[in-house]
Amino acid sequence: MANLILYKQTDLSDRMTVNRSHQANGGMSLFRTTSWKRSFVSSWLLRLSMFLLLSLPNSEGKAIWTAHLNITFQVGNRIISELGETGVFGNHSPLEKVAGMVVLPEGWNQNACNPMTNFSRPETTESWLALIERGGCTFTHKIKVAAERGANGVIIYNYPGTGNKVFPMSHQGTGNVVAVMIGNLKGMELFHLIQKGVHVTIIIEVGRRHIPWLNHHIMSLFTFMAATVACFFLYCARRPRMPSTATRRRRQIKADIKKAIGELELRVLKEGDKEIDPNGDSCVVCFDIYKPKDTVRILTCKHLFHKACIDPWLLAHRTCPMCKCDILKA
Ligand SMILES: [Zn+2]
Ligand SMILES: [Zn+2]
Repeated sequence: MANLILYKQTDLSDRMTVNRSHQANGGMSLFRTTSWKRSFVSSWLLRLSMFLLLSLPNSEGKAIWTAHLNITFQVGNRIISELGETGVFGNHSPLEKVAGMVVLPEGWNQNACNPMTNFSRPETTESWLALIERGGCTFTHKIKVAAERGANGVIIYNYPGTGNKVFPMSHQGTGNVVAVMIGNLKGMELFHLIQKGVHVTIIIEVGRRHIPWLNHHIMSLFTFMAATVACFFLYCARRPRMPSTATRRRRQIKADIKKAIGELELRVLKEGDKEIDPNGDSCVVCFDIYKPKDTVRILTCKHLFHKACIDPWLLAHRTCPMCKCDILKA
C-alpha cells in the first residue's frame, strides 16, 4: 500500500507545479500595488487555495481495495507458497475471491491487445487467470480479450521501470471478471517462472479498504494549517524589524526631548547664591531646599530644579512642573 500512496504523491506534486506556473503568469500582478508584506502573505494564501481547489477533482471518494495474492508454485520437489498484499482491485472489478492457474498470452508480446490473442493453457485447466502486461490498449480491452477466452480473472502488471507501484485501474464494462493490478517487478517474476514451464497458481483474495479522498483531505487540511502557522510566525518575526508609524514617531519625540534637555542651562550652586536660602524656594520635585554644590537645571521659563529631579520628569512629561511650559516649543 505504501507504493500506492507514493504514486498518488507524484500526481500531487505534478499539480503543484502546474499551479505555481499559473500563479506566476497572472496572480502576482494583482497584488503589486499593495505593500510587499501583504502581497507576500496574500499571494501565498491564494496559491495555496488554488492548489487545494484544483486538487479537489482528484479525490473521487472511491475506496481502494487491496488484493492479497497467495502464489504457489513447484521448484523441483519443493512447493513454494507466498502470501502478500501485492495488488489492488480495479475500480470496476467485482470484489470476490478467485483462484486458478496463471496463464500467459501467446505471441511475441504480453499486452493481449490483439483481439485474436490466445492463452497457452492446458486443456484440463478449469479455472485460470490471465497475466497481462500494461500498455498498448485500454484495460477494458485487455480484460475483455481474456474474458472471451474464458479467463476467471485477470492480473495486469504495471509498466517496466515502475517498481512495485500500483493503482486502481478503470475498466468499465468488463462484467464479472475479477481484475487486479500488481507491480511490474512481481509481474516479471511470475512471467519468467511461467515461461520456464513452472506451474503457478494464485488465489486472489479481497484485502483491506483504503479511502484515498479522506487521506487527501486530511493532508490538505494539515498543509493549510501548517501554512497558516508559518505565515503567523513570519509576520511576528518581521514586526520588530518593521516598527509601526506610531512607534517610530514616539521614538523621534523621545530623541527630540533628550536633545532639548541637553541644551538647557546647568549650574552648580555655591555659597552666597540667592537660591541657597532656608526660607527660599525648594525643588518642587523632591521638596528639598537647595544646598551649595547642588547641580541645577534652569528651564527656558527660568524655573530651576535639581538636575537629578527634573531630567527624568522632563523625559516623561516634557513640560515644566510649575508653569507647564513645553520644552520642545520653548
Ligand atoms: Zn529636587
Ligand atoms: Zn516653568
